[in-house]
Amino acid sequence: MVEAILGDDVLGEDPTVNALQERMAQLLGKESGVFVPSGTMANLIAVLIHCDRRGCEVFVGDNCHIFLWEQGGVAQFGGVHPKSLKTLPDGTFSLTELRQAVRRDNVHFPRPALVCVENTHNMEGGKVLPLSWLDELAVTCRELGLALHMDGARLLNASVCLGVSPERIVRDFDSVSVCLSKGLGAPVGSVLVSSAQFIERAKRLRKGLGGGMRQSGVLAAAGLYSLQHVYPRLSQDHQHVQIIAKAVKECVGGAVTCDPGGAHTNILMLTCDPACVTPDQFCCRMETVEEGEEEAVGERVSCRMISINGTTVRLVTHNDISSDDVDALVKKLVYVINSLSGSQR
Ligand SMILES: *Cc1c(COP(=O)(O)O)cnc(C)c1O
Repeated sequence: MVEAILGDDVLGEDPTVNALQERMAQLLGKESGVFVPSGTMANLIAVLIHCDRRGCEVFVGDNCHIFLWEQGGVAQFGGVHPKSLKTLPDGTFSLTELRQAVRRDNVHFPRPALVCVENTHNMEGGKVLPLSWLDELAVTCRELGLALHMDGARLLNASVCLGVSPERIVRDFDSVSVCLSKGLGAPVGSVLVSSAQFIERAKRLRKGLGGGMRQSGVLAAAGLYSLQHVYPRLSQDHQHVQIIAKAVKECVGGAVTCDPGGAHTNILMLTCDPACVTPDQFCCRMETVEEGEEEAVGERVSCRMISINGTTVRLVTHNDISSDDVDALVKKLVYVINSLSGSQR
């Protein structure tokens, strides 16, 4: 970041931003890319371009980030009507439900325009969408005349898990957003990729939304570093999740449980038995070091996680969590879960 060569990116003159955009487009097999401040802005820009008339309709899973965590921006800023389909536990939705939801041209209805999917699926625990389903979805969308966008905030985790190139995964998608600031560990930003013409429009919208960032090569440099140095080691994050999951599974008593097979990538969902501990209590307990704990665990370990609903805590591994950290975390988890289960009995 310190050594990045900078220019004015609003004028398209920042060589480091241009390099990042080209690198991501190449990696995903698309013509062009645009660097934006956040995944939320990347998704918003994509939806606004695909749905460029008021009264368009976008189809999304009801547990996806665009539907749940982006302030309803597509409706708020774009006049786009979101139609939600039931998200299935594997992160997909039923293509039959999609077909039934797409309504014919009629004065009563919005105009069906776009389908968005999320890969990996955050709220479903980092699930990798099956390639066969993506292929079937693409055929369906072509038939129905709908464009396809992938919220690929964690696309590279999906690629590593499948052992399939990101280019192949997004082959049939018209646009894809990728976060640099999640598992890839960069401080800021996402890249949206698509056709050259689409990205020209995206750059115009980015400026309009306040996302023109001038000397942003200082941020893009971190993204380039992530692609070169962090992407190749993502499988380690996945292995770390498996080590943690197996340790939790072996804890007796059942205060906190998990399904190692359901954890495909760098996210692990931990299920709390409300009779023993609530998700908020569990997060709080894992963050604090209680008296006498250091002797039992061997060191002072504090772990921060997020409670996502009444029974579930989300644990994420990433570039800054080492194998030693995982060993320490496992000891703490086993100690805390066993004591929670024990206090119940
Ligand atoms: C984090 C995230 C986003 C949005 O990214 P921000 O940079 O936080 O705006 C979009 N989609 C998914 C699946 C995410 O996890």
